[in-house]
Parts: sequence; structure tokens; C-alpha cells
Amino acid sequence: MSVEAHAGRNRIVILGATGSIGTSALDIVRHNRDKLEIAGLAGRRNIDRLEAQAREFRPPVVAVYERDAARALQERLGDLKVEVWSGPEGQERMGRLAEADVVLTAVEGVAGLVPTLSAIEAGKIVALANKEPLVAAGELLIARAAERGALLLPVDSEHNAIYQALKGHRPEDVRRLILTASGGPFRDHSKEEMRTVTREEALRHPNWDMGPKVTIDSATMMNKGLEIIEAHWLFGVPGDRIEVLIHRESIVHSLVEYVDGSFIGQLGLPDMRIPISYALRHPKRIEAHFPPLDLTEVGRLSFSAPDPDRFPSLSLAREALRVGETMPAVMNAANEMAVEYFLQGSIPFIRIPELIERVMEAHRPERNIELETIQHSDEWAREEAAAVLARWNGTRRS
Ligand code: MG
Repeated sequence: MSVEAHAGRNRIVILGATGSIGTSALDIVRHNRDKLEIAGLAGRRNIDRLEAQAREFRPPVVAVYERDAARALQERLGDLKVEVWSGPEGQERMGRLAEADVVLTAVEGVAGLVPTLSAIEAGKIVALANKEPLVAAGELLIARAAERGALLLPVDSEHNAIYQALKGHRPEDVRRLILTASGGPFRDHSKEEMRTVTREEALRHPNWDMGPKVTIDSATMMNKGLEIIEAHWLFGVPGDRIEVLIHRESIVHSLVEYVDGSFIGQLGLPDMRIPISYALRHPKRIEAHFPPLDLTEVGRLSFSAPDPDRFPSLSLAREALRVGETMPAVMNAANEMAVEYFLQGSIPFIRIPELIERVMEAHRPERNIELETIQHSDEWAREEAAAVLARWNGTRRS
């Protein structure tokens, strides 16, 4: 593609185009065709949505993870000039697409690790919405980004807020990072009430409209645990200087506390289009096409400490970060399995942290700078989670 063809426009690849973040990103592109264009779209299997997206945004290439779905999409798009790639290699290739300036990683879970690494190795601007790769392989990804000159721009709203609040300041002047949390749908539930919550209740987030994995993570508050580890790697701040505050209104997206007692934060509506647009056009800002935040309508902002007894996932994540090595990768994989089991109805909500804890207890951590070690730990943790579930089911039957 020639330079003139994209005159001043940022060329974007979206990994995970059909999910919640992907569709929000495309909404921003739709309203800003003079500034942004789509160089490639990648998805797992939702070819109905990918077909509609390809017809609207006309990327030269689309990648579908599942091979049968890729073949079907190729047929459907026969009338367009579009290449369809398939399999894991298609996703990886999309991550390093030469025609892209910015790669938005919006895959769900650690499945996004290899394409994210591919984008980093190609020296792209990487708009990171997919937090699990950083949790599982933070040391590797940060080291590789430094080597290849890739810029990591956090899209996760809390980290995007901190990124903005750190601009123009010296890292040595930072006292603490403060991650805000809505507290999720069960923030006012007693431990007893949490025993009987349903899948539908857990999927009903009070403030944010997100995919199912992150919504369940918000309900257990493992999402905030993952975000502590994510913040550690992105900003180089140790875990004991990263605090979590419950902030029910989700207006203050996170804060940096400086040594002189100043707190600098970022405020906005709880709408992912704000951090996404920040990352897609960085360092410029894109004018929002939706109504502005009215602080008089919000009225008051509240803050309180999270309850470690009702939300044990937070302590599990802190422990994983403290142990380091392969422990965060194992914790992350065990969480992905536990969330899946809960969504399938195989375990009750309160057993999600319990399952993660059992898997972490059984793990012997190893140094984790290699991709293979991380992938191996991830697979081990998934097998161990399945074994714990089988034991639990056995106990129930006997
Ligand atoms: Mg977040």
C-alpha cells in the first residue's frame, strides 16, 4: 500500500474484531474515516459478524482462527477483493501485518498471547485491550517490546487512565498507583448470598457493557487482580505499591499518587470507546461522537476499600505476583478454566477462587522468560484444574 493511500490516517489491525472491544473500535473508525482505516480484521469463528464488518470496512485481509469458518467466509466474500487467512498462523501473521501502524489486541484470554507477541516483535504500536497475555508473560512481552521498539498503549480503562496520569511526570516521583473497581454485581452481597448467585446474575454488570469472561472476572474481582499484575508490568511499579479502591460510579478510571501528596487521575464516562480512541490515534485525541459526561448528574463520587474475605481472588493475584516466575500464568489459566466451568454450570460461583487456589497450591514455579515455558505452565494448569474438578465431582457422587 502506498503512503498516499493512507495520507495521515492510522492503519489499524483488530485482533478480536467481533467481540465487545472490537465492535466498539469499529464504531470509532466508522465515525472517523478521515483519521482511521482498517488494514485487517481477525476473529475466532463469528463469520456472520466478520462478513458484515469486511463489507463495511473493506480491509484487504481478514483472518479467521477456525479453519472451516475461514473457508466458509472466503466463499461468502468471493465478490470482494479480500484475502482470508486461517488458523493460528493467520492470527500471528495478522499481528505483524506490514500495512498496519496500530494493532489492537482484543482477543479474550491468553489465546491472544502469540499474536500479541507477533505484533510486539514487528515493532508495532500495540493497543493492548487483552490483559491475560501480560499477566501470563509480562516479563517476556515487556523485554521484547523494549528490544523491538514497540509502543504498548493500554486500552484497559484503568491502565489507560494511569498512562494518561503519568504523562509529563518522573517515574521516581510516583508513590502509588490506585486502580479503581466498580466492585461488580455482588459488591453488596454477603458471603452467604454469594453461595447461590446464578450465571445470569453474574453476567449483569452494574456499570460496564463487556464480554462474558471479563464480566465474570469483575464479579469475582479477579479482574482487578489481573489488573494489578498488568499494571506492574506496564508501569514497572511493585505490587505492594499498587492499591485497589472500590469506586461504585466508575467515573474516576484510576489514579496516580505522587510523593508530594498530589493525586492525578482520569475521569470519564464508563465507555470503552474513550480508552480505545486514545490508543488508536495516540498522541492525538479523537472528538467523541457520543454525549459528554455530566458530573452534576453523577452528583457524588464514593471510594472504599475492597473486602478480601468476600473477594479472595484479589489476594490470590497478589500472591501470584509475589511468587512470580510461572505462577501468574498458572493462576490466569486456572481462572480461565474456572470461569468456563462456572458459565457451563459445572461449579458454583464461590468455587471459582477455590479452584484457582487448589491449582496454585499444586504448582512448582519455574523461571518464565521463554514462550514455551509459559505455554507449558498454561497447559499444566488447565489439566490440573480439570483434575480438581473431577475430584470434586467424585466427592459429590460418593
Ligand atoms: Mg479494566
